Amino acid sequence: KLTVEAAVGLENNTGPVNPADSGVKVIVRIRPPNKVGEDGGSVVQKLSNDSLSIAGQTFTFDSVADIESTQIDIFHLIGAPLIENCLAGFNSSVFAYGQTGSGKTYTIWGASNALLEEHDQQGLIPRVCQRLFERVNEEQEKHADKQLVYMCRCSFLEIYNEQITDLLDPNQKNLQIREDIKSGVYVENLTEECVSSMEDVSQLLIKGLSNRRTGSTSVNAESSRSHSVFTCVVESRSKSMADGGVSCLKMSKINFVDLAGSERQKQTGAAGGRLKEAGNINRSLSQLGNLINILAEVSQTGKQRHIPYRDSKLTFLLQESLGGNAKLAMICAVSPAQSCKSETLSTLRFAQRAKAIKNKAVVNEE
Ligand code: ADP
Repeated sequence: KLTVEAAVGLENNTGPVNPADSGVKVIVRIRPPNKVGEDGGSVVQKLSNDSLSIAGQTFTFDSVADIESTQIDIFHLIGAPLIENCLAGFNSSVFAYGQTGSGKTYTIWGASNALLEEHDQQGLIPRVCQRLFERVNEEQEKHADKQLVYMCRCSFLEIYNEQITDLLDPNQKNLQIREDIKSGVYVENLTEECVSSMEDVSQLLIKGLSNRRTGSTSVNAESSRSHSVFTCVVESRSKSMADGGVSCLKMSKINFVDLAGSERQKQTGAAGGRLKEAGNINRSLSQLGNLINILAEVSQTGKQRHIPYRDSKLTFLLQESLGGNAKLAMICAVSPAQSCKSETLSTLRFAQRAKAIKNKAVVNEE
């Protein structure tokens, strides 16, 4: 395995890659009150950059972002380290967790009119992609002597009712999750498109988002009932003349996971087919919650135990991010509203358990 110092791009890099930092980075973002009915003051207060209080309880995370925080602040907290980790060869995943209406989509994608243009309300994914291409170009120029070349490709899928849909080609059939030693966990037959500029990514995002499914419940007319996973794979190949022309290949992945709303089913008034759907959506989410509990326990006690990754599509697909070779960040979005207090507390407890997990990320190279 390559030492981290020797990883491409790190020789002169004072960036935020810290291999010893193996914990899950947990950020809680409190959204501003809505115009309708949420002006009675927030039930959750930011106390400092890493703590907040709700109902007399104090919680501490890596960062707490409140209504003062901008999309650029979130990019600096999560996006910039993600890019440096990726270029250094680490896999990374970012999860957005929280009840419907808490600000997951706003944080991950941005306001609907701000997806592709440079805009204050542009979200994390387009900002990361834009900056990733800039950094790739910088690195290629800086390491021209090593003939360093990067290649990027993207995929975009949705898990709905425990079924996987290829958002870049919804007619794609037989999408099965597979695992092998060489490729790790992957979705067989999933479209992967090569991208070399932000324009290429923009086309994919427009296509993929237009294929996303939304369903309405009584909580929020446009609530997303599905999980989406947007993945960028970055491969680098370099030939070091100093090493007699030996070529080195590194591959790393960034997964952006926009989870379905975490609200409990009874609050959505789901019935019939919707109830079955909610059950399955909750299967992936409750399984995620179970795994977070188990992994936190294993990290704390050091005792090994069986981890049931395969019990849901989401946890099977993301097993490397959850328990293994990946840097993991959780953005937990909460509403300031009194009516959401119990869901906010449940999100904060989830966030607290996630904080206890230790992952062991290593650089992927051949
Ligand atoms: P979710 O994806 O969790 O269902 P959304 O991201 O759609 O929630 O957010 C709900 C509403 O609140 C949207 O109208 C969104 O634009 C707004 N919103 C969420 N977070 C923020 C924020 N930090 N600043 C401004 N508006 C926000």
